[in-house]
Amino acid sequence: MTVNIRQVGEPVLRQRARPLTVEEIRSDPIQRLIEQMRDTMREAPGVGLAAPQIGQSLRLAVIEDREEYLQGIDPTILQERSRTVVPFHVVVNPQLTVLQDASAVFFEGCLSLDGFAALVPRALAVRVDCLNERGESVVLQARGWYARILQHEIDHLNGALYIDRMLSRSFMSIDNLTKHWSDKPLSHLQAALDLPDLGPPRT
Ligand code: ZN
Repeated sequence: MTVNIRQVGEPVLRQRARPLTVEEIRSDPIQRLIEQMRDTMREAPGVGLAAPQIGQSLRLAVIEDREEYLQGIDPTILQERSRTVVPFHVVVNPQLTVLQDASAVFFEGCLSLDGFAALVPRALAVRVDCLNERGESVVLQARGWYARILQHEIDHLNGALYIDRMLSRSFMSIDNLTKHWSDKPLSHLQAALDLPDLGPPRT
């Protein structure tokens, strides 16, 4: 079953979500919520969805980057973004630690800002200590695109959106991103959009 994804301006997207207890995680209502979030993320489609995006102010998110999403993307772009398949998994009560402060800058979108994207600097590597869907402690180590997804979803749990971190002159519609910018290197974007210094290219 899928549910409506709340759009920017809904108060729940700006609230700090509350943690879940292990008992709650294992309860039927939360297990059903996880299924709804998985179905809703897949239908969108998206690579991550946080509970506040469907109106539940809980520290819970689902993440999945599927093989089929990567197939249509140029392999050099996948490599540039360090984007690889991430199996479906559930993140509850996450604690984020930045492992590599150097930032990567790429276009990022959000299901709660439907139809728009912007360049957003994110830490290249992170560690996340959290609970899984059975309430067990897990440690996630992530680099590249997966690290970006984790940072994006954890922001949602703190009432933050990518527009709070974006390079604002790069904010644009997805249509115009596809039409004018998606095949351009960062150096071109920097000059054409008059962006601040993005630092040396990173691998
Ligand atoms: Zn989002």
